[in-house]
Parts: sequence; C-alpha cells; structure tokens
Amino acid sequence: MKLITFYGSRGLRIVKGENQYVWDDKGKKYLDLHSGHGVAFLGHRNKRVVEYIKSQMDEIMTLTTAFDNPIREEMLRELDDVKPDGMDNVFLLNGGTEAVEMAMKVARKTTGRKKFIAFRNSFHGRTMGSLSVTWNKKYRDPFEPLVGPVDFLEFNKIEDLKKIDNETAAVIFEPVQGEGGVIPATNDFAKALREETQKKGVLLISDEVQAGFGRTGKVWAYQHFNITPDILTAGKAIGGGFPVSAVFLPDDIANRLGEGDHGTTYGGNPLAAAAVTAATRVLKEERVPEQAKVKGELFMRMLRDALADFKSLREIRGLGLMIGVDLRLNPGLAIKVLQEQGVLALKAGITVIRFLAPFMITNQDMELAVNAVRKGVSETESKGGT
Ligand SMILES: *Cc1c(COP(=O)(O)O)cnc(C)c1O
Repeated sequence: MKLITFYGSRGLRIVKGENQYVWDDKGKKYLDLHSGHGVAFLGHRNKRVVEYIKSQMDEIMTLTTAFDNPIREEMLRELDDVKPDGMDNVFLLNGGTEAVEMAMKVARKTTGRKKFIAFRNSFHGRTMGSLSVTWNKKYRDPFEPLVGPVDFLEFNKIEDLKKIDNETAAVIFEPVQGEGGVIPATNDFAKALREETQKKGVLLISDEVQAGFGRTGKVWAYQHFNITPDILTAGKAIGGGFPVSAVFLPDDIANRLGEGDHGTTYGGNPLAAAAVTAATRVLKEERVPEQAKVKGELFMRMLRDALADFKSLREIRGLGLMIGVDLRLNPGLAIKVLQEQGVLALKAGITVIRFLAPFMITNQDMELAVNAVRKGVSETESKGGT
C-alpha cells in the first residue's frame, strides 16, 4: 500500500513531538514552527489536552448530538468565556473546510441569496464549496464547475468593496490571510468591509481556521479591528492537536436554521469536546493570546534586525505569532536550509516563509530560528533563489 499525499515530501521521518519540538527517527530535535499547519499552537501533546482526552476515552468516545452528554456541557461552559461577541451558538465539525462549507450553507439558507464574495490570495479549504471561494486557480481550475457565483475582490483595497451588492449572501474573509502569504487586513479595510456588508444586508464570515484561538494576540483575529462578523469559523488550534473545527453563530442566524439543514456523523464527538474543553482552559489560564502578542512582537523585531541587510527581503509582516518573511525569491531553498538547521517552517503564497510558532516558544528558540533564517536567506541569495 502507498499513502497518498498531495504535499511534497520534506524527507523527514518524525517519531515524536513535545511542546514546540519534534524529533526525527535518528533522534535529531527540531523547533517546530510548522506545527502541522498551525494545529500544534498549544504545543505537541499539550499535557492538559492529553489528560482530558485520555480520561474521556474511559467514559465514551462516540455519541451523536441527538443525545446530551456531560463533556459537551463542560465544553460549552468553557467556551462561554471566549466565544466571539454575540455568538452564543456553536456547531462542531472535524476540519476547517467543513466549517467553511457549513458557513456557506448557513449564509444561503438565511439570506435566500446565492452569490459569495471572497478575496484575492484567500484560502478557505479544498472541498467543492470552500474551494469555490479559494483564490488560487491552480487549486480550483481542475475541478470546475464549482459553487457559484463567486466574485474575488482585491484584499485591502477599499474601493473594491463597492462591488458588494444586495445579491450577495456572504463575504468570506481571513482577518490575516494565511496560506495566501500572511497578510493582515488593514484597520480601514476591515471597518469598510463591515460597513459595506451591513449596508447591503450581506453576512460577513470571518474565517479564523488559521488565525483564530489566540495566535494573533487576541482570542479571535477580528478583535484587532473593532468589528464583529456575523459568522465565525475556527479549526486548526482549537482542539490542541485533535481534529476538530467549529462554526459560531449569533441567535438571529442560528434560530433560522432547522432540523435537517445540516448534520455530521463525527462532529461534536466526546473526544473532540474533551480536546476543545482542555484547549480552551489552557488558552485562558495560561493567557495564551497575551503570550502570543508579546512573543510575536519580539520575534518579528528579531527577524527585522537580523534580515535588514538582505537585498532579497521584501517585508516581514504578521500579527502575534502568525509571521511571514516575504522575499523577492522563491523561499523553497531557505525553508530547506532552515530544516537542516533544525527549524521547521512552511511556505505561504509564492515568496513567503511562514512561521506558525507554538505559544511556548522561548527567546532561545527564536534566536535559533533567526540564525537559521539568516543562513537560509543568505544561501538563497547566493544561488539566485531556487
Ligand atoms: C487550513 C485552512 C482551512 C481548511 O482547513 P482544513 O482543516 O485543512 O480543512 C480553511 N480556512 C483557512 C483560513 C485555513 O487556514
């Protein structure tokens, strides 16, 4: 049997993870700033998450939400402290793309409209609906016809927002675009986006599958911009490593949904609920967003200082511990050099080295990473960026 993978091989066989580190089969240790596309933001095998899942395994592992269950009740109580503003309803699913699919269905059902608007460089997932609002043509084209109509507007371009019309069910956006190149929204753009959608009766979906749950320095990334979206999708970090995603909705939207409008076999299973409960507790008690803010600012400053003299550096940008180093060259070789130096990172867009660090990253870790990036960019420049 062969395992299908749609990612290029990194040439490593990883056997163990603990907090911000992983080890390969030869015992070599790596600082993991890839963190499984950001899933391990609370660290690999976070102790409290592991304990909670283990003890839930001794009770019950699978139970549809047609039945009540104590761990789900505990999860709801924990989430009460961190829920997005005004969003008292949550639906659990298993992956980011599923959360986006549901958000799109909810938007059509509750507005009675068909059209969606998304942005250039967006990434929302790989299934037919979420793929339809994903910008990269390479991902989309082989699978047309997708869900339509969808218009793509320029991200961070306020004039473009005039194209939002009253035929549109929802605008979906990432407050910090992840896959597309680590691009934070500007304050003015986010504000104008909220105003324009409100004016036209269009729902605003904040896709925080990557940026949400503390990574950017706030629990939810939209909170940087003084706006409130209508629907929020979360995933990646929210299960502390366990596969789970969520859609948050306010009452006025949730109340317009009924039996049969959506469903899921695994969604909200007791193990996922235990994982979200523990992860939320860690988020609150260890003041994870604050740590992400302080450490992210330091890490970004260190990167700026260390890379200032490189000709190929275009920009270092991000929010909290969601950081991109944008080069004028393909970052592939630099990411490879980083790996040889014991630091795992990932690519974003076409030219960006992306760091999705676990929140417990230390100053010493950052020094290691910064030195490795220097070496990576330097070798890339000397080879002309391949
Ligand atoms: C990763 C990601 C998704 C898709 O999540 P999967 O769990 O891979 O399905 C959707 N939206 C954003 C913003 C993402 O970063």
